[in-house]
Amino acid sequence: MPELWQLSVSEAADLLRRREISAVELTRAHQERIAQVEGNVRAFVTTLDDQALRDAERLDQRRSEGEQLGPLAGIPIAIKDNLCTRGVTTTCSSRILEHFTPPYDATVVARLHEAGAVILGKTNLDEFAMGSSTENSAFFPTRNPWDLGRVPGGSSGGSASAVAAGEAMVALGSDTGGSVRQPGALTNTVALKPTYGRVSRFGLVAFASSLDQIGPFARSARDAALLLQAIAGHDPFDSTSVDAPVPDYAAALSGDIKGLRVGVPAEYFVEGVEPGVRQAVEEAIETLKAQGAEVGECSLPHTRYGVAAYYIIAPAECSANLARYDGVKYGFALRGEADDLIDFVSKTRAHGFGAEVKRRIMLGTYALSSGYYDAYYLQAEKMRTLIKQDFDQAFEQFDVLVGPTSPTVAFELGAKTADPYAMYLNDVFTIPANLAGIPGISIPGGFSEGLPVGLQLLAPAFEEARLLRVADAFERVTDYHTRWPEALNAKRGARKRR
Ligand code: GLN
Repeated sequence: MPELWQLSVSEAADLLRRREISAVELTRAHQERIAQVEGNVRAFVTTLDDQALRDAERLDQRRSEGEQLGPLAGIPIAIKDNLCTRGVTTTCSSRILEHFTPPYDATVVARLHEAGAVILGKTNLDEFAMGSSTENSAFFPTRNPWDLGRVPGGSSGGSASAVAAGEAMVALGSDTGGSVRQPGALTNTVALKPTYGRVSRFGLVAFASSLDQIGPFARSARDAALLLQAIAGHDPFDSTSVDAPVPDYAAALSGDIKGLRVGVPAEYFVEGVEPGVRQAVEEAIETLKAQGAEVGECSLPHTRYGVAAYYIIAPAECSANLARYDGVKYGFALRGEADDLIDFVSKTRAHGFGAEVKRRIMLGTYALSSGYYDAYYLQAEKMRTLIKQDFDQAFEQFDVLVGPTSPTVAFELGAKTADPYAMYLNDVFTIPANLAGIPGISIPGGFSEGLPVGLQLLAPAFEEARLLRVADAFERVTDYHTRWPEALNAKRGARKRR
């Protein structure tokens, strides 16, 4: 019998339904696991110890009264700290929001409450989700459970590490340029960025509104499917959320990928991709082939312009979105030291924001300013269209595209903090999906010298079910997703295979 914190959502849901375990026991097991490893991992900004136990108790009560509950009822979950939680601080790992307590829940959080999920806490991120390593958190860096000297990726590094370390069964993150998929790749978790509009962004603290999406972290495709099911669908509070039926994601996991047309973009196997990553991904593609997929090469010719276009568009939108943190309405305010209003706002922001956030605000303000708008912002938007057209063309021939999620495995803490450009390049394969609005998933695809390698699958808009089906089929013939990080002295392979 595996430890309770090692169970999958479906296993735990089964045991809960049969009343063989209680939600309180399951929550306690995770809290004990947190107590055991959190000193090393540091995934959480806030833990909700008593509140989580009370939620679990209430859930057990409802079940004992005979209420029929869904698969997430009683499941312990972690939430990225840029998702608003009523009555619980939502810091974005920024000094400027350190003491901000939202008066409302994000729609995804409200839906999780309805589904009966137990929120264990709020997870660390790069400040305002800007970064690829979680080192831009104003509070502390999160460590990678696979090697505590390395980063978990970012910006949703806290959520990724929490799931990888068994501190939470599943978690939510946000992905603007790769912030769910890249940490997923670096921590051996299943990490899905849905189609733009599939999940409501209401209550997600905005970074770049035309790119942001909320997505699940899990240790299997099935668990990711169950979590996506709970959060997907139209929300009148988010005008960009799409009013289209949500398919049954778990039902799509047939295990069958015979005849699936898999495209391998030549541009995703270029210099800069570590040999160990390339090798693992090539082997994974062979595995898909052996399962009956038809693999062929394709081209996404504008890939190399993605990072440049993103670093105009995302900062431009962030400079507008972050203008609201002025010390007046909410958040941190530098009182008593300012000569006038301008001085007050400027000192508050100078103090409240970290270096990377300031860099983005300045970049974005510059790119949008009169005289530069045409040269930068407009050009970047045109490039965005070309990148989208690359995908449209590729999907005429292929059902999914496959390649590495990240060009490297987890890097050492501090390795890229002095060189923002090197950090930005880590997102070269994840950014295009955000620019095009299509869904992408990173799944455990192998290992390179003991560190996880993520396999990224991309599909046309609203084909999350297809991504999950391929991910699940791959899991049925591989065991990467079942391994536990030894750095935390977990038992390797202790989790049951389905
Ligand atoms: N790493 C990218 C950035 O720094 C993407 C972040 C994200 O997806 N939130 O902007």
